[in-house]
Amino acid sequence: MFLESQEKVKSGIKPFLDENFLLQTRTAQQLYHEFAKEMPIIDYHNHLPPEQIARDIQFQNLTQVWLYGDHYKWRAMRTNGIDEAYSTGNKSDYEKFEKWAATVPYTMRNPLYHWSHLELQRYFDVYDILSEKNAREIYETCTAKLQTPEYSVRNLLRKMNVVTVCTTDDPLDSLEFHQQIKKDGFEIKVLPAFRPDKAMNSDDPEALNAYIQKLEAVADVTISSYDDYLAALKKCHDYFAQNGCTVSDHGLEEMYAEEYTDAEIRSIFDKIRSRQVISSLENLKFKSAMLFQFALWDNEKGWVQQYHLGALRSNNSRRLRELGPDTGWDSIGDFSQARALAKFLRRLDNENQLTKTIIYNLNPADNELMATMIGNFNDGSIAGKIQWGSGWWFLDQKDGMIKQMNALSNMGLLSRFVGMLTDSRSFLSFPRHEYFRRILCNLFGDDVENGELPNDIEWIGKVVQDICYNNAKNYFNF
Ligand SMILES: [Zn+2]
Repeated sequence: MFLESQEKVKSGIKPFLDENFLLQTRTAQQLYHEFAKEMPIIDYHNHLPPEQIARDIQFQNLTQVWLYGDHYKWRAMRTNGIDEAYSTGNKSDYEKFEKWAATVPYTMRNPLYHWSHLELQRYFDVYDILSEKNAREIYETCTAKLQTPEYSVRNLLRKMNVVTVCTTDDPLDSLEFHQQIKKDGFEIKVLPAFRPDKAMNSDDPEALNAYIQKLEAVADVTISSYDDYLAALKKCHDYFAQNGCTVSDHGLEEMYAEEYTDAEIRSIFDKIRSRQVISSLENLKFKSAMLFQFALWDNEKGWVQQYHLGALRSNNSRRLRELGPDTGWDSIGDFSQARALAKFLRRLDNENQLTKTIIYNLNPADNELMATMIGNFNDGSIAGKIQWGSGWWFLDQKDGMIKQMNALSNMGLLSRFVGMLTDSRSFLSFPRHEYFRRILCNLFGDDVENGELPNDIEWIGKVVQDICYNNAKNYFNF
C-alpha cells in the first residue's frame, strides 16, 4: 500500500483517498487539517432509529450495518444487474455483501464509491479498494470488529465526534427511546424532530382517518371536529417540546399555500371523517391550513422548521406493492416551487409568525430560486434566520454540494450557512460531514490561491469552523 502510494507520488498521480483527498491546494489542506477536521459534528436532521441507540445495539456483520435499509446501494446493485434477492430479498448476509462488493468497482464517479471507501477507512481502518476479490477478507475483518463493544452504535457516534443528532419522528411517537437515552446519561444529545407529514396527508383520506383514530388513542381524546383534531395534535407538539424537541421537518412535493377560511377547513375535515370525496381544491386547502398551523406552533416555541421539497416518490408501483415505500423508487420531481413557497413564507412574515426556517430543494434547477428566496425573509433579527439547506439526497454529492455552495455564495452569505447534515438512516454515514468539509475547504483554498480572497487564513479558518459547527450550534441553540 505504502509503496504503491510512493510510486504514484513519483508519477505525479495523487494517491486515492489519502489525507489530502479533495484538497487540491496547500491552503485547502491547511484549512481542512488545522481548522475543519477537529470540529465536532451536529447532525441536525437524520433518520437514525432511536431504538437502536437506546439499546446501544451492535450489528452482527457488515451487511447489517451497511446494506440493510440502504436504498442508495440497492439502486446501484439493481442498475448493475443484480437480482433483487441480493438487495431486499432472502439471500444470506454474506451473499448480499459479495454482490455489493462486486458492484463497488462499477460505482466509480457515483458518491457511493467515495462514501464506501471513506467509511471503510474511518470506521474500520481498511484502506483497500473493495471488490469481489477481497470481499471475503474485508467482510470478515469488519464483521469481527463490529462484534466488539467498541463498535456499538453509541461508540460509532463517539468515534465520529458527534455531539448532537436530531432524529425524525411522527407526532404519535411515544419518544420512549429518546427518554431512555437521556435517562442513561448518554453524553451525545439525541433529540426528536416533529415530522407531521401523515397528519396532513389528505391525498389518502382512508390513511388519514386511520391516523386520526390512532391519535385519539395516543392523546386520549375523542376527535369529532377539526378543532378537536388541532387540539390533539397540539398536545403532541407540546409533548415533543417537553422531550427536548426544537426542530420540525416536512417532506413535501411542494409548498401548499392556497387561500381558505376556517369554516371551509372545518367542513372539509367533516367530509374526510364521514368518508365523503373531497375535491382537489379542498385537498389543497386542507394541506395549506395544516401546514400553516404547524408553522404557527413552531414559531410559538421558537423551533427551527425544515421543508424538504421536490421528491417524486414511489414511482414504481409494482415495487411499491412488493417492498413498500423508501426502498429506492424515488426521483427528482419538477414541481413549480417559487410562488407557493413565497406565499407561505410571506403570510407567516406578515403576521410576525415566521420562525427560523430551512428549505431544501431536490431539483437542482431550483438552486438559484432557493438561494434568492431566503433573502426575501431574512429580517436582521438573527444571522441566517432563513437558510437554504445543503445538497440533499440525489444532490448530496461533490458536484451538488459545490453548486449549492456557489449559488449560496453568489446570492446569499455562505459564511452564515448552517452546513452539513447526513439525512441518513445509517450509523456509518458520518464521514459525509468530512466529505463536505473537504469540499468547503477546497472552495476557499482555490479562491485564496487565485487571489480572489485575501490570504487571511485566521479569518477564513474561522468562517470554515463556523460553517462546520458554530453556525449550527448558535442557530439551533443546542
Ligand atoms: Zn430526511
